[in-house]
Amino acid sequence: MRKYNVGIIGCGPAGIFTALELLKNNPNISIIMFDEGRNIKTRKCPKSKTKKCMGCTPCNISSGFGGAGAFSDGKLSLSKDVGGWLEDYVGPIRIEELIKYVDNIYLSYNANPEISYNSEFANKISYECSKYGLKFIKCPVRHLGTEKSQVIMEKMYDYIISHSNVQVLELTKVKDIQPKNNSYHVITDKEQYICQNVVMAAGRSGSSWVQEICQKLNIPTSNNQVDIGVRVELPRQITDPLTNELYEFKIYNTSKTTENTVRTFCMNPGGFVSQENYDDNLAVVNGHSYHDLKSDLTNFALLVSCHFTEPFKEPITYGKYIARLANMLTGGKIMVQRLRDLREGKRSTKERMKKLSYTPTLTDAVPGDLSFVLPERILKALLETFEALEKVCPGISSDETIIYGVEVKFYSTHVDVNENLETKYKGLYAIGDGAGITRGLMQASISGVIAANDIIQKQTK
Ligand SMILES: Cc1cc2nc3c(=O)[nH]c(=O)nc-3n(C[C@H](O)[C@H](O)[C@H](O)COP(=O)(O)OP(=O)(O)OC[C@H]3O[C@@H](n4cnc5c(N)ncnc54)[C@H](O)[C@@H]3O)c2cc1C
Repeated sequence: MRKYNVGIIGCGPAGIFTALELLKNNPNISIIMFDEGRNIKTRKCPKSKTKKCMGCTPCNISSGFGGAGAFSDGKLSLSKDVGGWLEDYVGPIRIEELIKYVDNIYLSYNANPEISYNSEFANKISYECSKYGLKFIKCPVRHLGTEKSQVIMEKMYDYIISHSNVQVLELTKVKDIQPKNNSYHVITDKEQYICQNVVMAAGRSGSSWVQEICQKLNIPTSNNQVDIGVRVELPRQITDPLTNELYEFKIYNTSKTTENTVRTFCMNPGGFVSQENYDDNLAVVNGHSYHDLKSDLTNFALLVSCHFTEPFKEPITYGKYIARLANMLTGGKIMVQRLRDLREGKRSTKERMKKLSYTPTLTDAVPGDLSFVLPERILKALLETFEALEKVCPGISSDETIIYGVEVKFYSTHVDVNENLETKYKGLYAIGDGAGITRGLMQASISGVIAANDIIQKQTK
């Protein structure tokens, strides 16, 4: 069995930034990186040619070097209030420093130098929102664009593999981690390796696996939240007055009837709605935008946070169950419905969809009725939020708006780690979205820097 200083499981932003930071501080450190997906150069979603999802295993969109972020439109959120809970671990001052540090690394890899944000306008909208009981989150964004994210990830890949002491394994799923003699046996579907330190950076697609490992090693986890909702699509001119100034608006609403928090998320002016397949062939909806190629539409997620209490402890299973219901009704596809039909208690049909003044961007979505899928409290919270948003963004809940289902965010398995993101096992770290402590590119990347710095510090002691 080959031995390494560090094994990194998952090559998304969290795993990549772990490797970059380790190499920056110790260019000779031996690292092995595993990803169940392909490397960034061969990762291609066939849908651009076939025009429909081919259900690849592993999914080229969510797995492989670059992680879920590689084909995302790379919106780097430059606010500590967005994209995770790292402030709870490192405090408010350190998190701001780390945001600047990681942002500068992205810039050094040619990230777009512009930031799309008008602070004065943000203050105005924040005031408007507060008049209607909505909470506006101020967050400047560096927008890389999908093609640019890929190029940046490719450059990082080239840099990492240019070190002879680093091995990056594609199409290699880690099955198990076994602590033995002050190090860890990392068992893949092909071979075994011995690593002094192991960083679990498995992302959302690997969060169930992280949970399994934690259960087996008795590492405490807490797990009580999942966000369930829809992807909204509408003519771009309706959101332009806000998105031209802010690129993205993050607004929170607390439902008056259900008291669930509902939030806008991942806004893509001129973007495209996409289907994402999880490992167990579950189709969920998402959205992205390109830097140069633009549609005439805007899409964003509207998500309802669902918190569960004792005795229920399986929010991921619950979220998947709801998404699977939509898959069941559509033959494994994404369901789409006009907001008007949902309000009127009708199913959307191909004929009704044709009455829209535009062509939706997800062309193989199946018209249906989301009220057969989403529980009443989620539907109520969503419809109330559309009404509230209409006051600050007129037209957002018009008859021209369509909703795709189901969008689910499974970042809820929260692994118990210390301020260095180390579990109760010395040298075993849990970082990024898969550990339930981040939910965005910026904080996932930062989590890699934190773990790497701790490993380096321990080595130099
Ligand atoms: C379509 C889309 C758009 C997005 N847009 C944005 C955005 O604009 N801005 C933003 O901040 N965030 C965005 N996100 C979220 C962002 O991509 C994630 O927060 C980020 O990628 C998380 O990084 P990560 O390294 O923790 O996990 P991931 O990027 O998910 O990477 C985890 C990797 O681990 C691998 N893996 C999992 N289990 C195993 C295993 N057992 N063995 C081997 N490998 C394994 C997976 O294949 C994957 O490649 C978007 C996500 C999607 C899907």
